[in-house]
Amino acid sequence: MKFGGTSVGSVDRIQAVADRIAAAVRAGDRVVAVCSAMSGETNRLIALAHEVSARPLPREYDVLVATGEQASIALVAMALNDRGVAGRSFTGLQAAIRTDRAHTKARIVDIDPQPLRAALERGEVPVVAGFQGIDAEANTTTLGRGGSDLTAVAIAHALNADVCEIYTDVDGVYTCDPNVVPSARKIERISYEEMLELASLGAKVLQTRSVELAMKVDVPLHVRSSFDTSEGTWVTREVPEMEDILVSGIAYNNREAKISLIDVPDQPGIASSIFSTLADQNINVDMIIQNISIDGTTDMTFTVAETDLDAALDALRSIQSDVGWEHIETDREVAKLSVVGVGMRSHAGVAAKMFQTLAAVGINIQMISTSEIKISVVIERKYVELAARELHSAFGLDASA
Ligand code: ASP
Ligand code: MG
Repeated sequence: MKFGGTSVGSVDRIQAVADRIAAAVRAGDRVVAVCSAMSGETNRLIALAHEVSARPLPREYDVLVATGEQASIALVAMALNDRGVAGRSFTGLQAAIRTDRAHTKARIVDIDPQPLRAALERGEVPVVAGFQGIDAEANTTTLGRGGSDLTAVAIAHALNADVCEIYTDVDGVYTCDPNVVPSARKIERISYEEMLELASLGAKVLQTRSVELAMKVDVPLHVRSSFDTSEGTWVTREVPEMEDILVSGIAYNNREAKISLIDVPDQPGIASSIFSTLADQNINVDMIIQNISIDGTTDMTFTVAETDLDAALDALRSIQSDVGWEHIETDREVAKLSVVGVGMRSHAGVAAKMFQTLAAVGINIQMISTSEIKISVVIERKYVELAARELHSAFGLDASA
């Protein structure tokens, strides 16, 4: 049972979490709890680090930000003991969560299940600090923002748990953001692969890396609310019935920017030098389109995160005379919108329907890319919410009133 920041965000919420764990234990479950820091705490600690130092040392930064989770686990363990449940806190060190040395974004190398197993054997409920581990020299490391999800999945795998329950402040994963699409519905069951697409496109409920790991090791996830007992969304391996649904969800990212290089010489090595230059600056490139060439030149268009646009332009200008395109055009006002569903594998016409739906409301498509289970388009940013609503009803996702 993993509890996120809002689920342990106050004394009352911590009491409610302890009630929830105690009820599961009384129902006969063997439980390991994983906790995030109280909501806002990690941000507060990060801000503090930057107030003290312009460049906080990564080792010390990790020691600092890991304290948020330590406070939560101690409080939850205390509250459990008040309920007659033998809760016992475990730091990353005590739970033997071993990581590489990449401070602030460490990867879990392995978890020795022994300490947690022994606690379970003694009838205790281990309450483990999310987000933290130790490297080979026992330095504290952290797993990147949202990393408690990853801790929970890794522990579920190490202990061969039946399920990894992710308790949060929403009651599951939705077909689209309900703030934008009021008719969005809770998804009952979704495949890891679809969840991965939705998570990486900005559906904030689960950390992307945790979904990757769950898929790799096949740990079923149950995303549900810590505020009520309703069933949430199950994220599991694909089963045949999932293909009956054409589109499972719609996600968008409205923080992208588009760059076009006009009249690029059409020769071997050009794309390589453009994209290596961007990669050297750690700029992630998303969609890429190259036109057919006319008279030995072509146009190349791609998207980057809006926050990377200026750095991308600087990097590109430094190679313009070598590569020799004619000019650059940029557009900061774009958004990427995607429809996701494993049903696309076996059904024709999903792309056609998507394009028709956008055409019917006069939205121009600037770029298109597809994968086996996803179709993405780049459109003008101001239309993205309208597009999401139209596609949501066109693909039959609207909740029946
Ligand atoms: N407390 C960490 C964060 O805010 C880890 C987590 O909550 O998953 O990113
Ligand atoms: Mg989270």
